Amino acid sequence: MAFLNDNYLKLKAGYLFPEIARRVNAFCEGNPDGKARLIRCGIGDVTEPLPPAAVAALHSAVDELASRDTFRGYGPEQGYPFLRQAISQNAYRAHGIDVAEDEIFISDGSKCDCGNILDILGHQNRIGIPDPVYPVYVDTNVMAGHTGDADASGAYAGLHYLPGTAENGFVPAPPQEKLDVAYLCFPNNPTGAVATRAQLQAWVDYALANDTLLLFDAAYEAYIQDASIPRSIYEIPGARRCAIEFRSFSKNGGFTGVRCAFIVVPGELTAKTADGQRVPLRGLWSRRTSTKFNGTGYIVQRAAEALYSPEGKAQVAALIAHYMGNAAILRTGAVNAGLQVFGGENAPYIWVKTPNGLSSWEFFDNMLNKANVVITPGSGFGRAGEGYFRISAFNSRENAIEVARRIRELV
Ligand SMILES: *Cc1c(COP(=O)(O)O)cnc(C)c1O
Repeated sequence: MAFLNDNYLKLKAGYLFPEIARRVNAFCEGNPDGKARLIRCGIGDVTEPLPPAAVAALHSAVDELASRDTFRGYGPEQGYPFLRQAISQNAYRAHGIDVAEDEIFISDGSKCDCGNILDILGHQNRIGIPDPVYPVYVDTNVMAGHTGDADASGAYAGLHYLPGTAENGFVPAPPQEKLDVAYLCFPNNPTGAVATRAQLQAWVDYALANDTLLLFDAAYEAYIQDASIPRSIYEIPGARRCAIEFRSFSKNGGFTGVRCAFIVVPGELTAKTADGQRVPLRGLWSRRTSTKFNGTGYIVQRAAEALYSPEGKAQVAALIAHYMGNAAILRTGAVNAGLQVFGGENAPYIWVKTPNGLSSWEFFDNMLNKANVVITPGSGFGRAGEGYFRISAFNSRENAIEVARRIRELV
């Protein structure tokens, strides 16, 4: 008989989005009119078509594969040099940030990278996770056996939660305790909060002083409008010695269905063996990648490369401007409805306090049943998200305007 991974049984039953889907389906079944009016601002998925530069690159890469002379099979597991070079140059060196192409590893998504990184880390680490945050960090640590059971409030024993609150502007400061690994996500999903240079410097200083590995998720860096806010952790002196950065083409190039992302593991970044020897992480990650991955599709990597062409950059900028225009409309709508509103200025998410002390799911049901709008309950992102909800700006302009109107009407 095969034994299973018991850790999976510790996971809480409903991952957030299946529970939302269940309630939305139940609503639609009994309510054809509501179904017709329904606007989804729930799941964080982009809505606009791919940038034409990426589409053209996909077409021509498919044509290459269609001909014997230009056909390609397996590529390098770590990614094609053309894409690693384009990223090093355009995402980093052009901004004065030192990241070399052999420190960049191409993948098929940041979600996978966030989970897979645990493969090269030990099981004895004290792990800090912001709350609220992207649920993948918590669940992958549960699956890896890094936690005990969840308590009634949903908090797992053995994890060190870093609460984001209205008081700290949803940017948790480094804790008093010593952590071995800490996740950071800025601009944040779900709160839309961004960390200032000083706040990130405090984290890097903490990490260097305590020998902490920072896992910095910058999936939304392209949405930063304020030029003083860092887009990469490597803008902070010392970060190359303590941080891994996760980036994705999902939210800037609209690649959620195309699938391409990368992680940066700086050459000087090390972690300790059980007997205290320091070993560079880059070699471990490269080895893991060669063994468990056969590379992201060639056509996909060509499409990602095209986002860095002059046309590609302009088209990505237009996509971001579109979503941030929606964010401004939704933000203003919620403010005018008298709600307490956060985020939405450097991120495609608006984070809102529920009115009248309603719980996140109570307000979710109200919005669904009365306004026919799907939002995301804040409590789905962690205990500290209770009493809040997230509105996504990933939508058409008409829908954003209509959702802003319905929020004013409902509240
Ligand atoms: C969307 C998102 C990602 C990107 O995930 P992909 O797997 O690359 O699509 C990563 N982190 C956060 C916080 C996200 O919201």
